[in-house]
Amino acid sequence: MYIEEQLNEIRNKIAEAARRSGRAESGVALLAVSKTFPVSDMMHAYDDGQRLFGENRLQEAMEKMPQMPADCEWHLIGPLQRNKVRKALEHGFALIEAVDSRKLAEAISRIAGELGVTARVLLEVNVDAEQSKHGFTPQGLQEEWEALVALPHLEIRGLMCIPAPTENPEDARPAFATLRRLAECLRERGPLPLPELSMGMSHDYAVAVEEGATIVRVGSAIFGKRC
Ligand SMILES: *Cc1c(COP(=O)(O)O)cnc(C)c1O
Repeated sequence: MYIEEQLNEIRNKIAEAARRSGRAESGVALLAVSKTFPVSDMMHAYDDGQRLFGENRLQEAMEKMPQMPADCEWHLIGPLQRNKVRKALEHGFALIEAVDSRKLAEAISRIAGELGVTARVLLEVNVDAEQSKHGFTPQGLQEEWEALVALPHLEIRGLMCIPAPTENPEDARPAFATLRRLAECLRERGPLPLPELSMGMSHDYAVAVEEGATIVRVGSAIFGKRC
């Protein structure tokens, strides 16, 4: 089966990249990005041991969640509108990966407080500082750090980035290194351990693992081309 073969190959490549950089293979989670793919495809991945799935649209995730076995874990990886925060929190994502502004972080903390939960999130960083893109700039994140860590119902687990697409996977390395260094710098400032770095997609996840990724978000390399 195509999906099983692809999963095997990707797991091997992640293990090799981890070894090359002196890291434990177990320190890298493979997030299967299933957006646009049917539940039947996701079940092939599930039957091959995959439990961690990523969706970029809340609506699509909400439709798929009840159709998949209960031991799946879900990450929301796409932009989240503030008026959908409550819905997202009620659906129990293990991680909301793309918190891209202080306003959104504040909204999530406030609503998580109302629901009596702590929201686990990553902060999205615009590593190549493109005007058009979502996310904190590295400098902006440094400036807002104190205010962000003070939000009571938010557990900031780390950082994520979606660098500009590159022809050659190697060309994404500086962006991944930027995210890693920023996380190191924020860890030094304290008080959070920031264990997670979500970076790397189908064509460059191996480079991302070499640069310290703990979550790689891989879609088309598992499930095939999206139409
Ligand atoms: C779609 C998507 C991915 C996966 O992209 P592929 O190139 O198919 O691996 C990763 N991260 C985010 C945020 C996405 O929206």
